[in-house]
Amino acid sequence: MAALSRLSGILADSDGMLVYVVRGSQEERDSLLELEVHGVCRLRCQRCMEEFSYPVAIRSRLRLLEASQLGEIDDADDEVDCIEASKQLDVLTLIEDEVLLGLPFAPKHPDGSCVAVSEGLQRSINPFAALAGLKKKQD
Ligand SMILES: [Zn+2]
Repeated sequence: MAALSRLSGILADSDGMLVYVVRGSQEERDSLLELEVHGVCRLRCQRCMEEFSYPVAIRSRLRLLEASQLGEIDDADDEVDCIEASKQLDVLTLIEDEVLLGLPFAPKHPDGSCVAVSEGLQRSINPFAALAGLKKKQD
């Protein structure tokens, strides 16, 4: 995780782990890259601000094209994303891109499992109870 600098910017910490498989294949005249990424990221819940483990399970296919072909294709038409074929493909950057795309914009615990929120509410109720107690004494 620590090697993926863009990703570590949005993670709660660098614990967690990703396992990936990159496989090349040929389909008719297309050269394809199949990516599989599995693992766990540590994200911060945007509701209670506690860390939690977010499971990552990504499977995607990319079509490899020459730079000259990239301009010709209509991306909206195609369900497979295209990338430029190069002799030295930066696999980690590719994996990081896919994981970044797959992470939620505002990560949250599943509904009802933010323990810290109910704790926080109880804490915020107490000062009011204390205030009410003070008011009674004044009366
Ligand atoms: Zn939460």
